[in-house]
Amino acid sequence: MSENRSEISNLGEFGLIDRIHKNVTLTNPTSLTGIGDDAAVIQGHDQDCILVSTDMLVEGIHFDLSYVPIHHLGYKAVAVNVSDIAAMNGKAEQITVSLALSNRFSVEAIDALYAGIRTACQNYGVDLVGGDTTSSTSGLVISISVIGRARREKIAYRSGAQVNDILCATGDLGAAFMGLQVLEREKQVFLSDPNMEPNIEKYEYLVGRQLKPEARTDIVFDLEEAGVKPTSMIDVSDGLASELLHIARNSGVGVRIYEDKIPIDHTAYETAVEFNLDPVTCALNGGEDYELLFTISQADQEKLKNHPDIHFIGYVHDRKDQNVLITKGGTVVPLRAQGWDHFRS
Ligand code: ADP
Ligand code: MG
Repeated sequence: MSENRSEISNLGEFGLIDRIHKNVTLTNPTSLTGIGDDAAVIQGHDQDCILVSTDMLVEGIHFDLSYVPIHHLGYKAVAVNVSDIAAMNGKAEQITVSLALSNRFSVEAIDALYAGIRTACQNYGVDLVGGDTTSSTSGLVISISVIGRARREKIAYRSGAQVNDILCATGDLGAAFMGLQVLEREKQVFLSDPNMEPNIEKYEYLVGRQLKPEARTDIVFDLEEAGVKPTSMIDVSDGLASELLHIARNSGVGVRIYEDKIPIDHTAYETAVEFNLDPVTCALNGGEDYELLFTISQADQEKLKNHPDIHFIGYVHDRKDQNVLITKGGTVVPLRAQGWDHFRS
């Protein structure tokens, strides 16, 4: 019988990872970077590095098969892993796929899951090289590991942001979260009246952002073409606020962003209002956008200023306790991470 029991919910996901991290020592000289970034960095041949990351999707936590088509789930499981390699400024090359499944799933369902996985592999130029298959009592669990490559000098860490750097966000933010709200609402409508036709046409973009996110490998390519190496980078899986705080904390700096610079799609904006949600809060805390958040030196801003999908949202400063949003009205609001916290119920 244990006398001291501490609840994981008091630590939260990030607190738990910090706790694990604290007790881990790297012993092999080839283990260049371990826990704490979007991917681990391993010394390869000469100046080549290998990047490794894992992401797990759990039924009932990350997806609901009553509205997620299983082939989309396969696609998404690959895309979110490739996104972590893109967040290191690297190129994903291989994946392994591990499944736990129950007899609820048919052969056809697994075929469909792998059709989605294969499509993603083709789109991202990644090879499926292995995995593991086991049983589960009820739900489906998909765990994918990805292996990528980058030249050592090209790798962008969460820790490299410098004072006066410019904060950049790609694409638009908050749409995947609004897509989830739409799907959840339609599910409730369907449960109360199964004859109701789903009404999601108007929300097609949002639902697409939730069901079939894309890793921004195109941005990694564009940065290379423009001759820009981000000083730091992370992908937006938990929400802009949470990712900004990771960059700030890991880099030992503060961040300041401007409300009117946050890229929000107009359908996402209007739908948030329709759901009585604040569109900016959805962009800050919604998550699952899988866009890239990065910093560049001011000298590089000119090279990216005409890029249609890169937005300058703020800058880095030296007061590390001040991570703030400046509202349209000029009010200074502290940024808080409200990313997905699966440990709270
Ligand atoms: P991301 O959102 O980019 O996938 P996470 O927040 O999941 O990153 O993880 C942050 C860091 O913590 C990563 O370096 C990851 O490898 C590490 N990590 C997460 N969970 C564990 C765990 N259970 N044991 C060891 N390392 C972990
Ligand atoms: Mg990440």
